[in-house]
Amino acid sequence: MSDLHATVAMACRILADQGLAADVLGHVSVRLDAERILLRCRGPEDRGLLFTTADNIRVVDLDGRGELDGGYAIPNEFHIHTELFRARPDVSAVVHAHPRDVMIADLAGITLRQVFGAYNIPASRLAQQGVPVYPRSVLVRTPELGRAVAAAIGDSGACILRGHGVVTAGESVEQATLRALDLAELSRISTELALLGGRPQILPDDDTQELPDLGSSFNDLSRWRHYARRLEIAGLAL
Ligand SMILES: [Zn+2]
Repeated sequence: MSDLHATVAMACRILADQGLAADVLGHVSVRLDAERILLRCRGPEDRGLLFTTADNIRVVDLDGRGELDGGYAIPNEFHIHTELFRARPDVSAVVHAHPRDVMIADLAGITLRQVFGAYNIPASRLAQQGVPVYPRSVLVRTPELGRAVAAAIGDSGACILRGHGVVTAGESVEQATLRALDLAELSRISTELALLGGRPQILPDDDTQELPDLGSSFNDLSRWRHYARRLEIAGLAL
């Protein structure tokens, strides 16, 4: 098993530990080359995302053929990954999860607005850019549906699948994972503000200009190490 297998497995554990994947639903992938990805697959003894092992991470091609010994199966919704990789050469990693907090905010009709800044700059920028919504609550189990989801995502790094979950994309597994965590945090804050009856203003332009992208090593890698360490302390490391 490569380091990349372990990184994808760790992403699944972090998503589950942070409440974005309740039990067995959701998967993470990373591009290997033009035709192949590593994808979280399901074995006959699968125990869910929190207990993902490096062995759960399998090489799969963009047509859904994989190295699936040991009774492993590709998830039904692998098209979310393969069609996004086809549509977006800039994307190296994809997360699909079913975070309850994001679904509730969207179904409640709450628009994710940029109402906070330095509290969490990546989440703030996500709100500024706008998070597109794929409006159908279907299981994405055909290439056509996968292409429709990819079209909804467009050139964004995150998308809400209404009544279903989220897709996030990134230059690395770490970035796609942290983006999913940020989308969940943005949704929780937006819901809580709505419940409190708050109507905060959107940040003025001269404030958003003072919210720089602090770079991947800070936004993604240092936060990744934090969440990985939390798993270790909890006895949930790989
Ligand atoms: Zn799903």
